[in-house]
Amino acid sequence: MTLRERLAAIDERVAAAAHAAGRDPASITRVVVTKFHPPALIRDLRELGVHDIGENRQQEFSAKVDELHDLADLRWHFIGQVQTNKTRAIARAAHSVALTLHTVDRAKLATALDRALAEEDAGTLDVLVQVNLTDDAGRGGAAPADAEALATAVAACAHLRLRGVMAVAPLGEPPAPAFARLARVAETVRSVVPEASWISAGMTGDFEEAIAAGATHLRIGSAITGNRPAHG
Ligand SMILES: *Cc1c(COP(=O)(O)O)cnc(C)c1O
Repeated sequence: MTLRERLAAIDERVAAAAHAAGRDPASITRVVVTKFHPPALIRDLRELGVHDIGENRQQEFSAKVDELHDLADLRWHFIGQVQTNKTRAIARAAHSVALTLHTVDRAKLATALDRALAEEDAGTLDVLVQVNLTDDAGRGGAAPADAEALATAVAACAHLRLRGVMAVAPLGEPPAPAFARLARVAETVRSVVPEASWISAGMTGDFEEAIAAGATHLRIGSAITGNRPAHG
């Protein structure tokens, strides 16, 4: 299958899952995750009408933002872990492109971002609170019980706009109950910031379950891009 065919096939499945859940497919944003792929793939995707691009490594993300600066209508989604000492690079990218950061998982990161955005004169950054749906505290994301406090901390940052929540389904567990837990966390977060209505969930293997559980932003990589090139 060509890139165009894979994209069309996924979009058909997204629309079918939305209809099955009684949802409008237009209320769902399909982010294409292009990590490890060359910038040329993003140009090809843009030619096919894709605007939402996901990356998960800061250096690769920053390099692609620079290289593709002529594609002014892309919307970038950073979906990887952010080290507190990398907030400058994120703020610099936010200064030049439309960016949502999906992975705010601790108050310390929120305040570091807030400061970097002010220093870079980068305006306001859209962010999601990342929720850890596993029992392993070493995985990315705040524990569900901590999400409300984290949302409150983000809401107190003048340069951050809280848009909602993000999570990765745990391995070794069916995704549906995990996404149901995320939907409950999303509700709690909306009790803090009512307009924070985004739910970023669902990847190649589980996006249909995520749609059934209310996901508004899918992060789909390999089903659209093909297998990722080897990486070091
Ligand atoms: C790579 C990645 C995805 C996409 O994964 P696929 O299984 O290739 O669709 C989604 N979310 C995150 C956080 C990722 O790192």
